[in-house]
Amino acid sequence: MIQKVLIANRGEIACRIIRTARRMGIATVAIHADVDAESPHVEMADEAIALEPPSSARCYLDIDRIVEAALTSSADSVHPGYGFLSENPEFAAHVAQAGLTFVGPPVETIRVMGLKDIARARMIEAGVPVVPGFPEHGCGESELAGKATEIGFPVLVKPVAGGGGIGMKSVDGADELPAAVAAAKREAAAAFGNEAVVIEKLIDDPRHVEIQVFADRHGNVVHTFERDCSLQRRHQKLVEEAPAPGMQAHMRNAITSAAISATSAVGYVGAGTVEFIADASDGLRSDRFWFLEMNTRLQVEHPVTEEVTGIDLVEWQFRVAAGERIPVKQERIGLKGHAIEARLYAEDPANGFLPSPGRIALARFPDAKGVRVESGVRSGSQVPSEYDPLIAKIIASGKTREDARLRLVEALDATRVAGVRTNRTFLRELVRTDAFTTGQMTTGTVNRAEDLAVVPSPHQEILAIAAAVAAGIPEGNDWAFGFALWQPLFRRIVLIVDGMERQFGVSVTSSGECTIGDGSESARVRAVSVDRWDVNGLPINAIALRSGDFVRVHGRHDWQFELPVQVDPGRDDHAGLVDVRAPMTGRIASVHVQPGDRVEAGSCLATMEAMKMEHSLEAAQDSKVTGVMCTVGRQVREGELLISLDPIQ
Ligand code: ADP
Repeated sequence: MIQKVLIANRGEIACRIIRTARRMGIATVAIHADVDAESPHVEMADEAIALEPPSSARCYLDIDRIVEAALTSSADSVHPGYGFLSENPEFAAHVAQAGLTFVGPPVETIRVMGLKDIARARMIEAGVPVVPGFPEHGCGESELAGKATEIGFPVLVKPVAGGGGIGMKSVDGADELPAAVAAAKREAAAAFGNEAVVIEKLIDDPRHVEIQVFADRHGNVVHTFERDCSLQRRHQKLVEEAPAPGMQAHMRNAITSAAISATSAVGYVGAGTVEFIADASDGLRSDRFWFLEMNTRLQVEHPVTEEVTGIDLVEWQFRVAAGERIPVKQERIGLKGHAIEARLYAEDPANGFLPSPGRIALARFPDAKGVRVESGVRSGSQVPSEYDPLIAKIIASGKTREDARLRLVEALDATRVAGVRTNRTFLRELVRTDAFTTGQMTTGTVNRAEDLAVVPSPHQEILAIAAAVAAGIPEGNDWAFGFALWQPLFRRIVLIVDGMERQFGVSVTSSGECTIGDGSESARVRAVSVDRWDVNGLPINAIALRSGDFVRVHGRHDWQFELPVQVDPGRDDHAGLVDVRAPMTGRIASVHVQPGDRVEAGSCLATMEAMKMEHSLEAAQDSKVTGVMCTVGRQVREGELLISLDPIQ
């Protein structure tokens, strides 16, 4: 049996693994970068080791250092979690060479399934239905066009070493193919150090259905049913559920059998997921699903399977890694009820789902029957720009899909995360759409649901709270009431609301209370507690905070109001309005202008990197560059002024 495990990961998955390890009497060792020194996963573990160089964002990828940490802490095993090194065969090999147990599959299966071209070939051999396609490698331009025409446009160009949807390009016709292949290769080389791509038929508006599998070293292979993960943005999952809506027995038989064949064909051991896409235009049909890839690790969305099967998949991982048999036979694995998971990210759905790293000033998660929250953050935690911006997973279960869905809506409503932008209300609206409610969602549903990201105009009560907070109610936002005399007792506040300046007069009546007037109406506002306000006697559940030039009110929606910057009276009226500010915290990757340059509307002035993506910073209108405040390589904070521009009239 495993005695002590080092968890080579951070955030919610590290916390999740520690929980099961503790229950099983396995001692735990956390590792961390300095930004994570006070994270819940560090606190929860029995021991914690700071990685070096501690400030390096890449320290969670330092194979030698992590294996050394396991050895010095006398751990006998390493659990990789997901992401980072979990699907890196070199890591699994190093762990094994050091005499430690890798809580994951054998090195060779990670290698085979890690490359889409090899995996495709092995699956075809094993008789598993695979999306029609071919590897691009070795094809000349005309052969490429010929083969792609044969499988039929549109096609998808995919990096073989891909993950997270990075580098995928859809192509509608042969003339676009060479450019798309070249672009995908460039992105693949940069992201994965491997430029090879495969070309696959693009299945129009499919559903993503995957099978959780488990295998042990004694030849037992089982599945624990399917998950539907069709709600995705940028080919990355947002909402997952088990079982899949509309799954009939014959389809389930066909897809789980294909998954078992895939797993057995590569000599798999441990927890894995075989991913398929299904053409569900005519319902889920047993002759219309195709293998996509196998993930040789625990998936982010594994909790929905746990909720409907009652299995602790992490416990099974530990047992199988220690050489034990899978604890139950296939016939004994049952499905009960329904579970849906929503991934709460620090990102801005209204702005192309751009990551929104920063400090979580306050985090409140629901504690309700049928709701499970997997989170690795708490109030005060940082969402660093270097890592995946997942804040928490909210999982709701119920007897029926509708029970689970309604619980999820309520749970998302009751969740409050202040300080960073999140996709909370987008998720809530998404799971209320007809497409989701009726179980008809596809991988294109989120793209068609852009309007869900629009935050409705705030009502008067929300504006009154925002003005109160801008004026300093409660004092210093530290929620310690009754200690201060307010100075001055009257302030004029300007907020930008829906793009327009609005003026408010704020008269402080006592600590934590004020009267807000906007010229026509007035409201009495009182801060009751950290997440509760009273406006004219009406109770409002909201957290309101000022950070920098913004006031954010997190209630039913997450509203953000800008406090206008003091404009230098010497400059013309338009100055400051077209300046380029950092849309998020990140690193400047390139700067293309210098003071004095004239730039056209839409031209790229600089680029920045955040959360593994590159973002272009463009001029809003024809302008003259008056100042460049950023340099390549510098870390900048969200809202920081990077390039000042004077518009050319
Ligand atoms: P990655 O390894 O980058 O995650 P996957 O092959 O797992 O890539 O695909 C991720 C998502 O991209 C799928 O869930 C699906 O939404 C979409 N996708 C992938 N291949 C196809 C395809 N051939 N046709 C349509 N959509 C696809």
